[in-house]
Amino acid sequence: AAEEGFDIEDVEGAIEAAGHGPLPVLAVVGRPNVGKSTLVNRVIGRREAVVEDKPGVTRDRVTYEAEWAGRRFKVVDTGGWEQDVLGIDASVAAQAEYAIEAADAVVFVVDAKVGATDTDEAVVRLLRKAGKPVVLCANKVDGPSGEADASYLWSLGLGEPHPVSALHGRGTGDMLDAVLEALPEAPEQTFGAAVGGPRRIALIGRPNVGKSSLLNKVAGEERVVVNELAGTTRDPVDELIELGGVTWKFVDTAGIRKRVHLQQGADYYASLRTAAAVEKAEVAVILIDASENISVQDQRIVTMAVEAGRAVVLAFNKWDTLDEERRYYLEREIETELGQVAWAPRVNVSARTGRHMEKLVPAIETALAGWETRVPTGRLNAFLGELVSAHPHPVRGGKQPRILFGTQAGTKPPRFVLFASGFIEAGYRRFIERRLREEFGFEGTPIHISVRVRE
Ligand code: GDP
Ligand code: GDP
Repeated sequence: AAEEGFDIEDVEGAIEAAGHGPLPVLAVVGRPNVGKSTLVNRVIGRREAVVEDKPGVTRDRVTYEAEWAGRRFKVVDTGGWEQDVLGIDASVAAQAEYAIEAADAVVFVVDAKVGATDTDEAVVRLLRKAGKPVVLCANKVDGPSGEADASYLWSLGLGEPHPVSALHGRGTGDMLDAVLEALPEAPEQTFGAAVGGPRRIALIGRPNVGKSSLLNKVAGEERVVVNELAGTTRDPVDELIELGGVTWKFVDTAGIRKRVHLQQGADYYASLRTAAAVEKAEVAVILIDASENISVQDQRIVTMAVEAGRAVVLAFNKWDTLDEERRYYLEREIETELGQVAWAPRVNVSARTGRHMEKLVPAIETALAGWETRVPTGRLNAFLGELVSAHPHPVRGGKQPRILFGTQAGTKPPRFVLFASGFIEAGYRRFIERRLREEFGFEGTPIHISVRVRE
């Protein structure tokens, strides 16, 4: 590496940064208007989780990447979920339940000016049952005079209240230090405890695509091994189902079976549920209603799974209802609307008739294999060397940037770091990704490529 002009420490640092693997997940929960969204904005240091003044505004983006003191993690924002027909207690509880389930640690936000309410107490009970690390955020402490308000929150029994002004930033640094202490290095439930256990599948898709029908079909015909009872709810959260001679864990089936019909906030609820399931899973089976046009909502769900770095299988359901014309247009739609997952294995199924159910498992296995593929450095560099000499980067400003060498820094999904002599254009990066896929497969998995340029 040194002879190519890179410092060996830079190279090692770049490989480590790129190969970080899945990030731990932090959920921010609390009643409406305590300042959750404002806090999330602070934490992610962006204006992305826009604080909405209008009630009932749907936001589907619920997870964000954040970094504090050099550590990266994900934040699940539950601030977009308005009080709904369930009534405030039930809706806050349900929202917290989903978020807590997906999280490795929780920031519980209380409005210190208001003090602890009955709803806050209800959330505390959920937090106790879940047993996840909790950081108590006493928000709206905008100045020293508010500190006394914060200290009343010791009574919640969650340890030290951290006085914070999400609005002005006061105290957020100390609170984030506490968060980092609470967060495990790697997501516990996803890649720690469960290693070696059954593979985890998230069955996701917008409402009415047939998730519960599909689940009933596979769980009904095959053997449901056991129902695990979760700590936070009476319903089974994950189900172990034997398919194709292998036991799989379908995560968050409670969310599928529960059939909650909310008016306000229903989309948001669905997004939160999807995000929670995706975080817990290794592979996402994305169900799409083949009888209807592919919608923006379908695309958002696809994006969620891809951005979370999960293996992906596309299952087009309700195939029994398709006529020839619809089949023709569906193919065109898939090309134009689902180009971002052109690499995903696809099955055309019918939860109603059972059509092609047996193709589901091989598709899942293919996607997981792609997700775990590791390309040896020697093979990768032989490939890159040939590629670069046959198809050099276009000359820019009299110079020709070149990929010098590369390595795969991680798997699940595959992550590559390429080292280059100059800026590599987006088009050339895409070309390299395409060729990597042609050469090494990676069917059913997103791949990450980061490029380091020699100083
Ligand atoms: P959420 O419903 O819990 O996500 O709450 P929001 O983040 O939307 O905040 C609700 C209201 O409280 C907004 O008007 C915010 O500007 C305000 N707010 C949030 N944090 C603070 C704070 O630290 N101090 C004060 N004074 N107001 C805040
Ligand atoms: P979910 O909201 O995604 O769980 O969807 P459901 O499983 O509740 O299904 C929504 C509707 O689609 C129900 O009326 C199902 O009977 C119907 N449905 C589900 N799968 C199929 C299928 O393969 N073919 C047909 N024709 N209808 C289906």
